[in-house]
Amino acid sequence: MSTNPESVQTHRNYIGGEWRDASDGSFDAHHNPARISEVTGHYPRSTNDDVRAAVDAAEAAYPAWRELTVYARAEYLKRALALMGERIERVARIITLENGKTLAESRGEVVAAIKEMEHQIHQGTRDLGEIAPSALAGVLAYQYRRPLGVCAVIAPWNFPFNVPGRKCTPALIAGNTVVLKPSSLTPNVGLEFTRLFADAGLPPGVLNCVTGSGSGAGESLLGDARIKAVSFTGSTKVGIHINQLAAGRLVRTQLELGGKNPMVVLEDADLGEAAAACATAAFACAGQWCTSTSRVIVAKKIAGEFVEAVLAKARALKLGSGLDPATTLGPVCGTQQMKNVLDFIEQGRREGARLLAGGRRAAGEGLGDGCFIEPTVFGEVDPGMTIAQEEIFGPVLSVFTAGDFDEAVAIANGVRFGLASSIYTRNLEQAMKFVEKTEAGLTHVNMMSAYKEPQLSFGGIKESGSGIPEGGRTGIEFFTEHKVAYLKYRS
Ligand code: NAD
Repeated sequence: MSTNPESVQTHRNYIGGEWRDASDGSFDAHHNPARISEVTGHYPRSTNDDVRAAVDAAEAAYPAWRELTVYARAEYLKRALALMGERIERVARIITLENGKTLAESRGEVVAAIKEMEHQIHQGTRDLGEIAPSALAGVLAYQYRRPLGVCAVIAPWNFPFNVPGRKCTPALIAGNTVVLKPSSLTPNVGLEFTRLFADAGLPPGVLNCVTGSGSGAGESLLGDARIKAVSFTGSTKVGIHINQLAAGRLVRTQLELGGKNPMVVLEDADLGEAAAACATAAFACAGQWCTSTSRVIVAKKIAGEFVEAVLAKARALKLGSGLDPATTLGPVCGTQQMKNVLDFIEQGRREGARLLAGGRRAAGEGLGDGCFIEPTVFGEVDPGMTIAQEEIFGPVLSVFTAGDFDEAVAIANGVRFGLASSIYTRNLEQAMKFVEKTEAGLTHVNMMSAYKEPQLSFGGIKESGSGIPEGGRTGIEFFTEHKVAYLKYRS
């Protein structure tokens, strides 16, 4: 049954401090991934004119915003953070309605975002320059960073609140103004993120948000010659496209892209801990973390015992709407995503991988109208298979076996991605060897691949990322340019 459109809210873009419809009045409906027939809201299908208006507003706001002291900018951003703290439940509910993840996962996302943003605000008030001893007497030689201007932030649907927070905060604290384009699968999260800043009194035009598709609003934003930097998180395919467009105008890009993250489990590992971490990293958020573990490479001798332990964890998951507190595995984010994942599963079967669990769209009570996929485990996966090479981005785990450490590392590294990796072992030498040899931007020893802290950078290598990474100290570096000055103060 479809929801009565009368009761469904129609949302607006936020441009120059005003909530505005699309210039041609067009809207797109968003559907709840846990109940596809339910429309959750209508969102502007932003036109070229809307995007231009957002960049106009950001451009107009830039001179005054950059002239503020960093402490004054920090005050605005801290007020938005305080509101975030007060509205965790409201924001979490919106994330769950649009993305499908469980309320607990959505709350976790908001809390993590607050911590990351807090760190970036503090980072903005320190570490922004250096004085170097000059070769000349009476000369002060120094460098500092200054903002770039209007920056574009293009966000994905899988962490629709945290990713804008991680990108917009360093941009804003450094003195830039921003146009945010959320994913069309999570438009309300992007608008709600923006609303927090609007309600905190951020000056009009400093942060703007336009909804719409990548090929529509996204391309319009990239095509605006006034954009000085593009921070993008999403698929490798779109990232490469964005890089090509940006290169033509020497616009800097920060690209956080797909992954195919391996976990290696050696013979001496704590199997209980490793299996629990593997199941969490594979199935939490329905496998839609960029740092999810999608491949586990297990020492042959312990493979049977390890896989049984992971299967037991997978069987214990309770599929359902993320709004139900009993649910531990929500739907994947939308019908297209469900189709992609099911197609990969079918291909895995065809290519000869052995299905050990799941493998179907879930059809139990209350699930039939949603994008639910059973937690799926494939055994006997060959490293050359499609499911071993491509990012599936769903609750699907592939198990490989390896005769020794070197073989395990070769399988782990044998993909084009390089985002996150992990190893479970009690052998310190093997652990350190893995840290050195694994081709990943972030590596974990006796910890799952989906873990990060705000004080350190976050970014992939190989086809998982390009440009200065987010977070830590580098978050602000991306959104600033270096300025060097030599100042002669006596002859
Ligand atoms: P996507 O590439 O389809 O879309 C990401 C964003 O780009 C969306 O806002 C989309 O509308 C926009 N977009 C699409 N085409 C565009 C175009 N031609 N021009 C401008 N914008 C365009 O990715 P997604 O499906 O939203 O997100 C899932 C992907 O994101 C996965 O590959 C995942 O691994 C990756 N991801 C990576 C990280 C990381 O930090 N490395 C974090 C989260 C997600």
